[in-house]
Amino acid sequence: MNILILGGGGREHALAWAAMQNPKCDKLIVAPGNAGIAEIATCARLDIEDGSAVAEFAGDNAIDLVIIGPEAPLVAGVADTLRAAGILVFGPSQEAARLEASKAFTKEICDAAGAPTAGYAHFTDLDAARDHVRQGPFPVVIKADGLAAGKGVIIAETLEEAEAALEDMFGGTFGAAGAEVVIEEFMTGEEASFFVLCDGETVLPIGTAQDHKRVGEGDTGPNTGGMGAYSPAPIMDDAVTEAALEQIVKPTMAEMARRGHPYQGVLYAGLMIEDGAPRLVEYNVRFGDPECQVLMMRLGGQALDLIHACAEGRLAEAQVNWADDHAMTVVLAAKGYPGSYEKGSVIGGLDNLPEDSFHMTFHAGTAEADGRIVATGGRVLNATGRGSSLTEAKARAYAQVDAIDWPEGFCRRDIGWRAL
Ligand code: ATP
Repeated sequence: MNILILGGGGREHALAWAAMQNPKCDKLIVAPGNAGIAEIATCARLDIEDGSAVAEFAGDNAIDLVIIGPEAPLVAGVADTLRAAGILVFGPSQEAARLEASKAFTKEICDAAGAPTAGYAHFTDLDAARDHVRQGPFPVVIKADGLAAGKGVIIAETLEEAEAALEDMFGGTFGAAGAEVVIEEFMTGEEASFFVLCDGETVLPIGTAQDHKRVGEGDTGPNTGGMGAYSPAPIMDDAVTEAALEQIVKPTMAEMARRGHPYQGVLYAGLMIEDGAPRLVEYNVRFGDPECQVLMMRLGGQALDLIHACAEGRLAEAQVNWADDHAMTVVLAAKGYPGSYEKGSVIGGLDNLPEDSFHMTFHAGTAEADGRIVATGGRVLNATGRGSSLTEAKARAYAQVDAIDWPEGFCRRDIGWRAL
């Protein structure tokens, strides 16, 4: 099978690595890829949000399956263009991707599906939204409707903060994403991520994870794209997983199909769990980054079979072969991230790292320059370990961190603290 993966972060390196573990993968191209991906696949330049360009490239390169990593091409409708061209694709249609692209749409689907989530109201003008928050209670959660790179969610502790957030959003801070605003009840509990594949009909759980959004140890400091993750999430025991599947995910997928927009791809449900009861925080229509790295480390080569079965509508006959294992990934980021940081520093020590089914350092923001690997982004490397316990997985992840020679980088030393 000839495969094209769209994207160039740690998530796509993990997807590429898993695909290469499977003997059915004959040729692998990743666009745009990165320096780590270039060691196992061909990297190509391509405008991945231009569906026609991707379809033409797939045709020219005899691609049998396109796997879409990030949300932007999905929201731009690239999966629709590929399907219309008769190309097999893993990823939801533009309509189905609204589960991530519009928070108001997701809330409305949850209502229709009876899926438990925070109470909410939806506004298109500042005055009505302001009147609503004046009635309390606090904290209250204020969200720009559209995609805002994780920055469009404000947890307002006071009326002043809530009003300021509303003025910002309706004032255009998030552009069109903030033209509509969702105001939500603040939920308490513990967060976890639940991943399923859906082929439009059948839903197949493929793992749980927890991540660390804050930049600092002890979960302090500003939010980031994620500083580390581990799988499975201990709080997602069988009962919680069953509740999330039966009460939230399956009714959502059934409602999408009923509306004529069956969902095909991976669905990432962000959950808040309190007293054993999960409620939906958000959906994402792609793998999380860095959660994908721990899921791929645990699934290995079978991930490609599952993705292929999903794209072909064969999930009813698919199953996951679980090893009783754990995985952890630690993000190495450029000093200064998530604020401003330098690019171009040289990373050493990568050549001698072990690379096997227990150890993989996935690349995120890297490039090759004059035979050396240099940092090109905020989140740069994902040191990932797998083991029979989370403690073992952690030791393997941090052993890689300690072998990497990159004075301009940093990481959190406490990934997994909640589970350990
Ligand atoms: P990201 O892209 O970072 O996942 P997002 O912009 O899609 O975020 P959400 O996931 O909806 O936004 O919210 C971000 C975070 O805010 C959540 O992970 C959660 O910690 C918190 N949050 C969101 N909604 C609520 C809520 N109703 N109650 C409590 N916390 C919430």
